Amino acid sequence: MSFIVAIDGPAGAGKGTITKLVGEKLGLINIDTGATYRCVTLAAIEKGYTLKEEDKIVKLLDELKIEFKKENNKEQVFLNDVDVTNKIRTQEVNNMVSQISHIPEVRNNMANFQRKIAEGKNVIMEGRDIGTNVFPNADVKIYLDATPEERAKRRILQNEEKGIQSTYEEILENIKFRDYNDKTSKTAPLKQAEDAIYLDSTNLNINQVVEKVIKIIEQVTKLHT
Ligand code: C5P
Repeated sequence: MSFIVAIDGPAGAGKGTITKLVGEKLGLINIDTGATYRCVTLAAIEKGYTLKEEDKIVKLLDELKIEFKKENNKEQVFLNDVDVTNKIRTQEVNNMVSQISHIPEVRNNMANFQRKIAEGKNVIMEGRDIGTNVFPNADVKIYLDATPEERAKRRILQNEEKGIQSTYEEILENIKFRDYNDKTSKTAPLKQAEDAIYLDSTNLNINQVVEKVIKIIEQVTKLHT
């Protein structure tokens, strides 16, 4: 039996940071589904494929081995045995990931992979369609939101910590572009599941959001036991 907490929401809403911290506090395995789409995108870039070459990108799926590992308390992402933790966060990947993630075969393949890695485990999984598509029966569903401007500010800080150069304007534009793509996607539009709890983090700091998420998980769990 698995216990699944699904955290969905737009790019830069703080899902990554929050799921990591909540996962640590509650002993849930943290799965970053965005990283799986980023791996497919990186692989396509490394092969030199363009967005028009969907058939080639789809064929590539069979050659990909994606793994999450925790080393020295750091979450790391491996693609075909190579550590790509930082490489999947570059602007080049950001610019293509949204379109690639909406190729139906890519989505199906990744959703199956995400279900497989969660099997039999207690997980907190963040993404766009976890509560609506990957785990429609998740035990707890939260939709984490914030304004695009606030999300752009947060992403800049995150990038600075990782030593990635970026400007506010380019990040904001990318966030708005990805929001548009994610929300208008035919294959898996970003939307709040009917039974998800909406949490606006615009004016909250990380600790406040973590506390709220833990409270929600505890309340929902109590209701079901
Ligand atoms: O969360 P992150 O920004 O790393 O996700 C990268 C991209 O992957 C998103 O912009 C979105 O297009 C896509 N994605 C998705 N479904 C998920 C997670 C991410 O389509 N479950």
